[in-house]
Amino acid sequence: MGRPGYVTVPILSVLAAIGYVYYTTVFLAIPAWLGLTTAAGVANAAAFTALAAACVATYAVAVLRDPGRVPASFVPDVEDAESPIHEIKRKGGDLRYCQKCSHYKPPRAHHCRVCKRCVLRMDHHCIWINNCVGHENYKVFLIFVLYAVIACFYSMGVPCICLKMSNQAVILLEHLLLFAGFFCVL
Ligand SMILES: [Zn+2]
Ligand SMILES: [Zn+2]
Repeated sequence: MGRPGYVTVPILSVLAAIGYVYYTTVFLAIPAWLGLTTAAGVANAAAFTALAAACVATYAVAVLRDPGRVPASFVPDVEDAESPIHEIKRKGGDLRYCQKCSHYKPPRAHHCRVCKRCVLRMDHHCIWINNCVGHENYKVFLIFVLYAVIACFYSMGVPCICLKMSNQAVILLEHLLLFAGFFCVL
């Protein structure tokens, strides 16, 4: 079964938001605070560029990486005394079987209606990466969120420092609304 696609409105929105925040921070906020000709200004711009690059890289991996496919060869070994039968079985005692994929489900695997297949250790289907958050991309997704939170605080911190300049207040307000909206729907 194939993925629903990589070019979706939420994915393009996230990339546009990263681009917008990067532009306003590096080309408007930092120049107004330190100037881009000073060593401190260049150091801040370079640090934020590295952070933005890390954000885009981890985001790309979270979008592109397979969240965890159930191996076609997976068969619950009910004869093996050491296998965790109590996990493979439902409370009622039946083996966990996916009717749509026509195979047995390992413990903590769930069927995703959007991806149209079972995903190992599925957490949830995230529209912002148009992918499931599962066994293979859970860590990189958390790292992306961590980088994004650090970038949020930094990109709002700089306009806060020099609020006396009118365009900084506008940048701060725009970033605040953008991040609030983003984290509300995450
Ligand atoms: Zn399934
Ligand atoms: Zn999914």
